[in-house]
Amino acid sequence: MTIERLPELSVLRRNWPEYAGEATTHEVEVQGVRIGAEDPVVIAGPCAVESRSQTMNIARDVHEAGGKLLRGGAFKPRSNPNSFQGLGRQGLEILAEARQATGLGIVTEVLDPRLVEEVASYADMLQIGSRSMQNFPLLIEVGRAGKPVLLKRGWSATLEEWLCAAEYIAKQGNRDIVLCERGVRSSCHWDHARSVLDLNVIEPLRRATPLPIIVDPSHATGDWTLVAPMSRAAVASGAQGLLVEVVEQDVDREQVKCDGHQGVPPQLLKSIVRDIRGIAEATAPRAPSRPRRVREAHGER
Ligand code: PEP
Ligand code: MN
Repeated sequence: MTIERLPELSVLRRNWPEYAGEATTHEVEVQGVRIGAEDPVVIAGPCAVESRSQTMNIARDVHEAGGKLLRGGAFKPRSNPNSFQGLGRQGLEILAEARQATGLGIVTEVLDPRLVEEVASYADMLQIGSRSMQNFPLLIEVGRAGKPVLLKRGWSATLEEWLCAAEYIAKQGNRDIVLCERGVRSSCHWDHARSVLDLNVIEPLRRATPLPIIVDPSHATGDWTLVAPMSRAAVASGAQGLLVEVVEQDVDREQVKCDGHQGVPPQLLKSIVRDIRGIAEATAPRAPSRPRRVREAHGER
């Protein structure tokens, strides 16, 4: 599927005249933080809200490291129904307290269309997880909730399917959508890494849509030691921000209830934030270049 052949969607540049230029982005503002502006935005926090002290500690560390928004799951999509499912409403209360303490806006996942209103009453940005990218009733409810949306890519979704999912939200009158690449499944699943981080997709997305694009190196790699290099690569590839999982300082990873081996320690988060600032500056302006074949087809040099 080439960009030129995408179906007609309102989230495409060609149907959104104020963002006709390929270098322009529809900025999405979350609690005063502009995603898609010049500075890359780091959204960071625990995989799941596990306790008050764990979340408060990590929230302070994220704030100190220069993260701009706090992530954390209160409702967790787990493959195994016997695994920890999140603290639910209590988790939302803890996130609200962490916002109060640090000033960081909250990004949290909503799994169930029936709970959208409740989650939206706490969250500053609603996250749609990879498993839910094609849960169409959920996308419609989230589109009506009046909050910005972080739309993660389904782990086997094509660019077209991903943009169609964004369109479900946009059709409800909400185009404050941030796209998040989080790795695609391959035959290497849990070999040297959890998934393959598809950095190839960033440039075609930028050509297709003015929606901001961020990258989640944590779920893409599943391994905290790979998160920093993939963060740098993502920003060098044009990502406008990162979604990073963080663990508490000196934590016993075996005791973490969800994704304990992929969270970066706070000090590493700090160096990631510093490094990507430099990379974003060094690579800006990132006016995308089209492949020669496409330029020629449009009579461009
Ligand atoms: C998450 O970010 O909390 C998460 C569950 O990731 P994904 O939906 O990408 O698997
Ligand atoms: Mn996780």
